[in-house]
Amino acid sequence: MTSGFGVQGSRPYEPAIGLEIHAHLLTKSKIFCGCSAAFGGAPNTHVCPVCLGLPGALPVLNRAAVDDAVRASLALGCTIHDTSIFARKNYFYPDLPKCYQISQYEQPLATGGRLGGVRITRVHMEEDAGKSLHEGFVDSDRKTYVDFNRSGVPLIEIVTEPDLRSAEEAAEFFSRLRATLVWLGVNDGNMEEGSLRCDANVSVRPTGSPTLGTKAEVKNLNSFRFLQKALEHEIARQIDVIAEGGRVVQETRLWDPAAGRTVSMRSKEEAHDYRYFPDPDLPPIVVEAARIAEIRASMPEMPEARRERFVAQHALPQYDAGQLTQSRALADYFEAAVAAGAPPKLAANWIMGELARKLKEQGGEIAHSPVTPERLAGLIALVDAGTLSGSMAKEVFEKMYASNRTAAAIVEAEGLSQIDDESQIAALVANVVATNANAVAQIRAGKTSAFGFLVGQVMKAAKGKANPKRINELLQKALGSGDSSIGNVSRRGH
Ligand SMILES: [Zn+2]
Repeated sequence: MTSGFGVQGSRPYEPAIGLEIHAHLLTKSKIFCGCSAAFGGAPNTHVCPVCLGLPGALPVLNRAAVDDAVRASLALGCTIHDTSIFARKNYFYPDLPKCYQISQYEQPLATGGRLGGVRITRVHMEEDAGKSLHEGFVDSDRKTYVDFNRSGVPLIEIVTEPDLRSAEEAAEFFSRLRATLVWLGVNDGNMEEGSLRCDANVSVRPTGSPTLGTKAEVKNLNSFRFLQKALEHEIARQIDVIAEGGRVVQETRLWDPAAGRTVSMRSKEEAHDYRYFPDPDLPPIVVEAARIAEIRASMPEMPEARRERFVAQHALPQYDAGQLTQSRALADYFEAAVAAGAPPKLAANWIMGELARKLKEQGGEIAHSPVTPERLAGLIALVDAGTLSGSMAKEVFEKMYASNRTAAAIVEAEGLSQIDDESQIAALVANVVATNANAVAQIRAGKTSAFGFLVGQVMKAAKGKANPKRINELLQKALGSGDSSIGNVSRRGH
């Protein structure tokens, strides 16, 4: 049976993948207490009786976390429910001292959205657990420490329908979701620090079958690459099991990046029964329609809308508009440069070209670029006015990036201004024409490539500072039939 896979026109099996994504919300304090929700800090310094789960401590909901969760849900096209309920998810783990996690179960905050064609089942709010840190590899030497700084950091869990049909599609969706949350400002997108985490439910079925196969849950997929690799492996594994006449077992599996495969963590029989019930310490979350309207009104223009506006308003090509809306910071930078007077297409060229190259080279972020949008506009204005040639502008840009000075200040201090004076350039042109008889003769004979050589000679004589447009004009004039010097050279040539 395996011989048919990938060989025939249609594949005998197709995967169905759904994702569960946990995203930290970027609130200052935790979801049920006033402790800092910031990442890092010495272990167990952002803690209090509430997030340590001490007996008698009572949670109080952070409304800023609800606002962020509503904002994310709206961006995903979900329906926000006016009333939702916090529930206790009961299980034991050393990093969960009160033996339950406060989450939402039967009545989540939001349901029924869509992102890029993938249906969003639900968005619910919950608290994060602490973190176990393991040390040592030998049993006698093994230690585990627990850091509760992360305990109580607000999370949203975003659950999709099993609408994804390949590992690549799943990775693309995760990337798009990340970009959306970062754009909204509700999540920092930092997967290494664990502020965005992804689990995947994956099953395979005969292509065209209306029912889904038995699914396995794959955990620990904290990069786009891991997600794609793990799913590729897991899909192939399940197809092999079925092709050999076996059946896929419902279980939780872990991605082992070192071994490049998924391994069984626990079967359905060992799965937790979380015994959810409404948390008696917390009232229902009530989100008024007026508050939803306020949040909706305060939401940033989302990437797709902004891209279309860049095309319509600034007459940018689709490609440029797409590049400039890769992040909100990039799009903001572009619009600030345009607001400071830069022609849009020239600003786009500089941002996607020199600035992007420099930021990549230096590992910098555009929001902290030493060349601000206003200063970039200043540089572009000098090129537009003919003060700087294109190649001089690139040099000046390098200096701006390194020295935190304006283009005008650099031009002034270093006497970099382009030679644009007609009589000065005409003198250089005349000299070059007189001393390059062969090239002039070639041009007269129709070999236009020699023209570029002469331009180069004039530029060399001007030490790179002459306005190339002006050189072109004056050289053409000098070689024209009405000019006596050309006539002389021409006669000599024949
Ligand atoms: Zn606390």
